[in-house]
This record gives sequence, structure tokens and C-alpha cells, in this order.
Amino acid sequence: MSTKPYDTLVIGAGAAGLAAARKLHDSGQRILILEARDRIGGRIWTDDKFTDFPIELGAEFIHGENAATIDLVHAAGLTTIPVDRYGKLRWAPVSLPAVPLAELPAELRATITGLFMHYRALPQHDPLPDISLAQYLRGKGWDEEALKIADVLLAQTCCATLEDLSCADLIREMRADHAGKEEFRIREGYGALLKWYSRDLPIQLNTLVRDIHWGEGSVTVITANETLRARRCIITVPVSILARGTIRFIPDLPEDKHDAIHAFRTEPATKLIYRFREPFWDAETTFICHNGLATRWWTPGYGRDGAAVIGCFVTADKARILDEQDENRALTWGLTELNWLLDARDTDLRKASIGARRVSWAFDAYARGGYAHLPPGKASARPILARPEGGVLFFAGEATAHDSNPQTVHGALESGWRAAAECGA
Ligand SMILES: Cc1cc2nc3c(=O)[nH]c(=O)nc-3n(C[C@H](O)[C@H](O)[C@H](O)COP(=O)(O)OP(=O)(O)OC[C@H]3O[C@@H](n4cnc5c(N)ncnc54)[C@H](O)[C@@H]3O)c2cc1C
Repeated sequence: MSTKPYDTLVIGAGAAGLAAARKLHDSGQRILILEARDRIGGRIWTDDKFTDFPIELGAEFIHGENAATIDLVHAAGLTTIPVDRYGKLRWAPVSLPAVPLAELPAELRATITGLFMHYRALPQHDPLPDISLAQYLRGKGWDEEALKIADVLLAQTCCATLEDLSCADLIREMRADHAGKEEFRIREGYGALLKWYSRDLPIQLNTLVRDIHWGEGSVTVITANETLRARRCIITVPVSILARGTIRFIPDLPEDKHDAIHAFRTEPATKLIYRFREPFWDAETTFICHNGLATRWWTPGYGRDGAAVIGCFVTADKARILDEQDENRALTWGLTELNWLLDARDTDLRKASIGARRVSWAFDAYARGGYAHLPPGKASARPILARPEGGVLFFAGEATAHDSNPQTVHGALESGWRAAAECGA
């Protein structure tokens, strides 16, 4: 056992853990980051080999012109590519190619714009019982066909189904939102940002934390290989991992913390990514959606000349179906839908594709899904998850971002900074 205790141990080297560690290290604390994987980043994972520009296998966009991530990108000397996803949204009516909203039949266009309008009006409802988004939209008169569209455009983004998404938690997030609405990709990739941000931080990879003994004024953290002591620790592992009991707390966490951990749900999140010799979509394509299985498509190379990669991001029950198939079958299914979405029926996309991969976050041992949401009736769980315990346990990570946007990188970063401040940084 190390004789000199650390000031703070940080568990997890994702966005939240690195953010916490950065602040603590820069404030002069003696810290160590313990990370189970053989890489940093967690649910940020950039593939620099798939093609000649970075491909994001996890987080891809910066959501908001004021998101904390933007300042880091600038400080790192990196650059952003603006992506107007929703402004350029194309929708495909069943079995027809995708077209801009303006070219859709009037009734379908009115449904899509009306659903967005009711969604954005959520924060004006006060007080609103903690019902599901599906229940709220039904109350506004939308039928089950419209709800299928809302599932693709609203719930899929939140890695949830409409029936399982808490309106009260969405309202909390909309009111707390300070990031803005514009969206960006990082030209050099999220990986480049984290490489810069984590420079000179003490990080121990391949270190799975198993037990945390906590008591008055100190913690003892047990990994597969060693026992470490510190005055406190910051836990940033996904709430899905906490719920699985991968880390044992001795003594147990308080009952309301335990209940809060188990209130969250983390659904599957799956990307299908394809590379072609040249793009067969027009350069203005940013976001294509439809009501199939591979529902949401975008172009990771948008804003780069000639980039020929297209990807699909699906969550919750649809991702579960894609995950149940073997990789080839899932990838072929995606291409079948892409064929009609892009009206490319004359092209054999399977032959045209020169590289493809599926990334299923549900199979990832240290994430067990995409990002966490709260079901109706559980909106109070988020601040309880974030609450420190006993002056020695501190909690960060996207799910704890009760004063920002959970489910995002900037929410995770801010949660890490909050926890570092709680630890005296
Ligand atoms: C497919 C996908 C797409 C996304 N798209 C976007 C997007 O476009 N924009 C956006 O802003 N956000 C996006 N997100 C969400 C974003 O990635 C997360 O909100 C954010 O990265 C979470 O950071 P975190 O530090 O909270 O958690 P994580 O990144 O999960 O970090 C936690 C770390 O803890 C480690 N760990 C787990 N268990 C242990 C243990 N027992 N011992 C030691 N270490 C452990 C993990 O390995 C991991 O590195 C996406 C996520 C996914 C999965």
C-alpha cells in the first residue's frame, strides 16, 4: 500500500474524470486517475484509421455554440465544423426517398413541425406532472402515427423511447440549458481534444476499481492489483456501471442514493458506419431520418471535400434489434434502408462500400449502453446522484449534470469541474 495518501483519486478517464482531474492537478493537489480501459475518453472514442479524417465512434457533435467544449477546442488550437443538422433535416415518407421538409406533403410537414413546436414548448408548462413524453404528446392531440415520428426525432436523440422519457427531467434540462442550439464537429476529432486536455495528468490505465471503503476523512480504493488511499475520491463511472454493482461501496451508499442510481435507465446505442470510394449524396446532406430501423443518418465528413463516409446512429429498442443481429446482417440492413433513402436503387451499395463497421455500446463492458435517461416519476433522482457523501465521496459524469445538459460531453465536463470545486480545486 502506498504510504502517502493522495489528495483525490479520480475514477474514470472520460470527459468528466479528465475535467475533474485537470482542475485538481492544476490547483496543486496530488491526484491519480484510475481507468479500467486501455485508453482514455470513455464514451468519446475517435477512430483515426477508418478513413483519412477522424470518425467518432462515440460522441460526435458539440451541442451548442456556448458549450464548454467550444472554449477547450479553441484553447487547444483545434477547429470546429458547423453542422446545421435540424435546419437541413430531410425526412423520408415510407418507401420513398428523403427530401427536405419543404418538399414533403403538407400534412406530414405539419406533423413534423408541430411535434417540434410542442416539444420546445415543454418548459412553458408549469407545473407539469412527471409524465412520459408520449403521454404529453398524446395530450396535445397527436395520434400513434405521429408518435412514431416523434420517437425518431425526439426520443432517439435521448437514447430512450417516448414512453420511458420523463417530461419533468426534460423541462429541467431545457431550463438549465446554457449551451445554445448550434451544432459542430471537431475537425481534428474529439480524440485530439482529449489528448491535449489530458497532457501531463497522472493516469493509470487498465485499472478496474472494485471496492471503495469510505469513512471519516479518507477512502481506500481497491483495484485488481493494489490498494490506494486518499482523502477523497471522485467517481465518474457511468450510472449504468454503478447500478450493476461493479464497484462495491463499503459501507453501502445511503438508501436514497442507491434508489437514485437504480432510477436511471441506459438503453443500447449503436452506430453503423460506411465508407465509399466517393459520395453518392449531395454535399449539403447533413441529417436524414425516417421511420425504419436504421432511422437516423448523417455524414461525418460534412464540410470536408469529397468525404465519402455516411453513418447511422440508432438507440433504444431499435438499437437492440440491430444489436441482436450479427454485424454483417446489421450492416446489410442499414444499406438496404439507405438505398431507398438516397434513391440509389441503381447502385449495389454492398459492392460500393469499401469499409464498414458497427459499434454497439450496449456490449461495452464499461458503458453498458449509450447515455442515461430518467423515466417518468423519477425526475428527482439526478441531483441525488450528484450529491457528495460523507465529505469523501464525490460524483460526476454525464448523468449527474443536473444543472446542465446530461447525455452530452459538455455536461460531463461541467460535472467534473463541479466535483473538483467540491473537492477544493
Ligand atoms: C454513441 C454515442 C454518441 C454520442 N454522441 C454525443 C454527441 O454527439 N455529443 C455529445 O455531447 N455527447 C454525445 N454522447 C454522450 C457523451 O459521449 C457522454 O455524455 C460523455 O462522453 C460521458 O462522459 P463521462 O465522463 O460522464 O462518462 P464516460 O465517458 O463513460 O467515462 C467514464 C469512464 O469510467 C471508466 N470506468 C467504468 N467502470 C470503471 C471501473 N470500475 N474502474 C475504473 N474505471 C471505470 C470507463 O471506462 C470510462 O472511461 C454520445 C455517447 C454515445 C455512446
